[in-house]
Amino acid sequence: MQIVALSGIYHWTLGFNPLVLGALDGLHGPSRNRAFVVDWKTSARRWPEGKAATDLQPTCYLWAEHQLGHEGTRFRFEVVTKTKVPACERHPAAREGDDFTRLGELARVLEIVVANKCFHPRDGGWECANCPYATACKEWHGRRTKSSARPLPSGGAKRDSGRVDV
Ligand code: SF4
Repeated sequence: MQIVALSGIYHWTLGFNPLVLGALDGLHGPSRNRAFVVDWKTSARRWPEGKAATDLQPTCYLWAEHQLGHEGTRFRFEVVTKTKVPACERHPAAREGDDFTRLGELARVLEIVVANKCFHPRDGGWECANCPYATACKEWHGRRTKSSARPLPSGGAKRDSGRVDV
């Protein structure tokens, strides 16, 4: 087993999105055509059973590899846990035709979301915590909220028999 590439950059197409840009952590294997895309993670706890089976990252990487003509590429997560007794676990993930079709459909729907600027205000996500656009993002949402034709709730949401009106 050898390292074929580290921190490689991908350009590939997805759905009718003209270009997707991604970066892989590592590519290991006996050869370029029989390699594993490896994604390194740290985690506070051990991954639950099945987590790798539904994650979008393997689908994206394996679709990119397919488009680049590397049909034999496989994928695995390598997860280091920050538990009292640390562990390093491998979680392989395989994807097939229907998974790529669903990924393309997800991209198609997200294109529509972006084109229509359907971005909801968001706080507390790990992405937001260190985002260089956080101030501009908050201001943009603030301006949008003030100019919204929809009346804002006064004194909080009205709760009535389980229904929440905003
Ligand atoms: S632009 Fe930054 S602050 Fe705004 S939602 Fe995205 S990650 Fe969070």
